Amino acid sequence: MFSGKLLQLQQNLKNLPGIGEKTAQRLALFILSQNKEKSYQLADSIKIAVDSYTNCSTCNMLNETDPCPICKDPTRDESLLCIVESTRDVYHIESTQEYHGYYYVLGKLLSPVDGIGPKQLGLEKLKALVQDKCFKEIIFAISPSTEGESTIHFIAEYLQDISICLTRLSTGIPYGSDMEYTGTVTLMNALKRRFPI
Ligand SMILES: [Zn+2]
Repeated sequence: MFSGKLLQLQQNLKNLPGIGEKTAQRLALFILSQNKEKSYQLADSIKIAVDSYTNCSTCNMLNETDPCPICKDPTRDESLLCIVESTRDVYHIESTQEYHGYYYVLGKLLSPVDGIGPKQLGLEKLKALVQDKCFKEIIFAISPSTEGESTIHFIAEYLQDISICLTRLSTGIPYGSDMEYTGTVTLMNALKRRFPI
């Protein structure tokens, strides 16, 4: 239906998570029909955020500074490291105020069908971090899905020569669900009731 620059805008919007064809069409038309200044502001804020944010060189979290404020914070519990899939999960766990340790963001989960194997996880950096610090426990706060399970077990095996307690969140999180959509209270309880791998 759309063509030219409008089609291009629609296709770029469709690449965003959770945006289907119809929604992309609606958003593209909305952007073009609203006050131009507002659309320029949207475009500028995307560019500024993209240019300003980078991955923390220690934990991989997306942030404006490197190292990120969490890695720089000496008041956090240095005995705990929490492994998560994305920066989104860090914000979610922080919102529970239940966890005060450090994080490591994987960025992806093992998924051979999508071409994501052990090499793409970049686990050498994680191992170096664990060897460098004095963590007593590593908590896997990863969505309980097929990819999540194989990632947890692969990393647990990868770190087996390091003497450290490995735990994962309790099964308060339903299998197949996404961490992002887990309620704060459920996530808080899952953090309290973690168990060894
Ligand atoms: Zn960091």
